[in-house]
Amino acid sequence: MTDLIDIQAAVTAGKGADFKLEQLKIRAPKNNEVLVKIVATGMCHTDLIVRDQYYPVPLPAVLGHEGAGVITAIGDAVKDLAVGDHVVLSYGYCGSCKQCNSGNPAYCVDFFGRNFSGADPQGHNAICRHNHEAVHDHFFAQSSFATYALSLENNAVKVDKNVPLELLGPLGCGIQTGAGAVMNTLKVNPASSFVTFGAGAVGLSALLAAKICGATTIIAVDIVESRLELAKELGATHVINSKETDPVEAIKEITQGGVAFALESTGRTEILKQGIDALGILGKIAIVGAPPLGTLAQFDVNDLLLGGKTIVGVVEGSSVPKTFIPELVTLYQKGLFPFDKLVKFYDFADMNQAALDSQNGITLKPIIRIANSN
Ligand code: NAD
Repeated sequence: MTDLIDIQAAVTAGKGADFKLEQLKIRAPKNNEVLVKIVATGMCHTDLIVRDQYYPVPLPAVLGHEGAGVITAIGDAVKDLAVGDHVVLSYGYCGSCKQCNSGNPAYCVDFFGRNFSGADPQGHNAICRHNHEAVHDHFFAQSSFATYALSLENNAVKVDKNVPLELLGPLGCGIQTGAGAVMNTLKVNPASSFVTFGAGAVGLSALLAAKICGATTIIAVDIVESRLELAKELGATHVINSKETDPVEAIKEITQGGVAFALESTGRTEILKQGIDALGILGKIAIVGAPPLGTLAQFDVNDLLLGGKTIVGVVEGSSVPKTFIPELVTLYQKGLFPFDKLVKFYDFADMNQAALDSQNGITLKPIIRIANSN
């Protein structure tokens, strides 16, 4: 490797291991790549399930996939981005398959390879240790738990410099997933009913989006009381603690028969069953919660058939990041999408505390501060 740049990165060495800060090196960008000085990066539940190997990303690896930062160098084929641009890094996609060409990059034929293979599409790594031993990277085409990340022009989204960059990283995954599931996939109607099973970062982003879409009955189901309190503050008309109350019965009563739109964001199959059962006739449920690969679920086939119900899987809110992320930023600027209420900032050295607080339900969306934007 030539043109190596010194970086500090949080390495996940093995299944379930703590994040450990290490001094590493990254190569300079080439072709359509951009090098981004990471200002801050969100920590998503998906980083933690990969650390725990629900998805078999090869380790040791630098994870992190909600990076926000400033471009410091570009490859010679980059057309629309420049050094100094503020960018949010989103998921990787090839840009040339049938799904990418029809405006559905979240369903890119190579989505798994470009986000979870631990290397670039040619199987190469850009990050190495000082002894030149490679460390797996290109996680979501970025690996943003680091002071610098190598990304591609197509998943680096230019954002308004007037908005605090340190806040914006989670728009690249968790926030756009919840909001997009509601706005792009479910297409929640005005005056309709919506429930999120799970009031985490994804579920509450969905709740904010359902409010924007004009849903008038908005229900949050969770087992953590503080999250349900926040859901109320953000616009839930009803909250249900499913440790205490049967959510299916309660939802049917609130909606007089069944809810029109639902989101499953807990990653648990018994909760998916509750979500399907709680739907009204012609109701639709979107699955975003991710259980381990190979997980099977059960539901009553005739309930689905006779009720004309729809179950749909959703990746990254079915969003096209280059357009959807700037739209979410505009909604935030207008006070309609206050996703800043979900976040708590941590120093880079406190990543393991952030992970623990997220798992214990104390913090909804940790953001790891890495540098300032100057
Ligand atoms: P999170 O941990 O913040 O939220 C999950 C919520 O589910 C928590 O509030 C938790 O208390 C709640 N919960 C757990 N068990 C429950 C139960 N039995 N009943 C009711 N609620 C329960 O995680 P998040 O960041 O919001 O992510 C949610 C899920 O979405 C994760 O599985 C994550 O991997 C997945 N995800 C998927 C995509 C995608 O593209 N499909 C993108 C981002 C995240």
